[in-house]
Amino acid sequence: MKKNNIVEIKAMLSSPKQIVIVPHKNPDGDAVGSSLGLYHYLILLGHHVNIIAPNDYPEFLKWMPGEDTILKFDEEEKNSSALIEKADIIFTLDFNSLHRTGKMEPKLASSTAIKIMIDHHQQPDDYAQYVYSDVTMCSTSEMIYHFMEMLEDVNYVNTDISTCLYTGIMTDTGSFRFRTTTSTTHRVIADLIDNGADNATIHNNVYDTNSYNSLQLLGCALNNLKLLKNFNTAYITLSQDELNNFDFKKGDTEGIVNYALSLKGVVFAVIFIEHKKENVIKMSLRSKGSFDVNTFARNYFDGGGHTNAAGGRSELDLKNTVEKFISILANHTNDLKS
Ligand code: 5GP
Ligand code: MN
Repeated sequence: MKKNNIVEIKAMLSSPKQIVIVPHKNPDGDAVGSSLGLYHYLILLGHHVNIIAPNDYPEFLKWMPGEDTILKFDEEEKNSSALIEKADIIFTLDFNSLHRTGKMEPKLASSTAIKIMIDHHQQPDDYAQYVYSDVTMCSTSEMIYHFMEMLEDVNYVNTDISTCLYTGIMTDTGSFRFRTTTSTTHRVIADLIDNGADNATIHNNVYDTNSYNSLQLLGCALNNLKLLKNFNTAYITLSQDELNNFDFKKGDTEGIVNYALSLKGVVFAVIFIEHKKENVIKMSLRSKGSFDVNTFARNYFDGGGHTNAAGGRSELDLKNTVEKFISILANHTNDLKS
């Protein structure tokens, strides 16, 4: 972010403001963690702050400090809309295009508030007056820490901020193992631990929350795993009936795609999840190395994200979606060499 942008933002934040923070739809650990980290910081500065998530998020995030204050737009549309209308500043976190906020998009687009985007996804849209976009960053949560550094306020980092940012960095880096995890990430993490983030407890709160059903669903997913050896690709399907059999709850499928990617030699993995109610197949795409799933998801499946992690969707049924997927792979044989 440019120095003069920082000076302007610092001046804006020097007197109490009405602020709204918005993460993307179906918020993940980084979206919720970065929103709450920023929330606690702005509260310390004396602002009036509300986080408005487009919709609900998984149970394994519902322990973070301040989490109970988060409004969900789809459950409290009137109240949320009023807050958006009277906001002076709107921070949009962990997404690159307003359509990633679902039904909130028109409200945000028509708002006259100053918008500040902080995000690490590729190809950011041009809707915000201030854009802090860095696709080399492992997480938006790490960017919130750097944002505080740029504002020379890193001394405000307390236990609540540390806990929330640690959670976001941990979840978006696959517990610090993805390529985007840098030595700087580890320095930030060290400072968060020094300021009260309890790493073992956070890990436990996020990852050790399986139910019997969610583990059985994982078993079903692994049973459905298919390996396309010629393409160094693996995929998993979960139909609506299978989800129902194991009493699917939001978050139960998170991370399952990584099992497909953990197969030796596999560089591209996808999970296809049927959502009968919305009549759509949701896809999570992951890769290793140079195979670019952001471009793949954008070109063929109405999605996007990062080079090694992206989301997408298909309006065909499950069987036809998988067939379409397999037929496309033939165009990418060279890119998929491991
Ligand atoms: P997931 O598979 O976990 O839903 O998403 C993987 C990554 O891609 C996340 O960083 C997520 O925010 C991003 N992502 C998911 N769907 C989309 C999409 O439709 N468009 C864009 N630009 N990013 C997406
Ligand atoms: Mn993120």
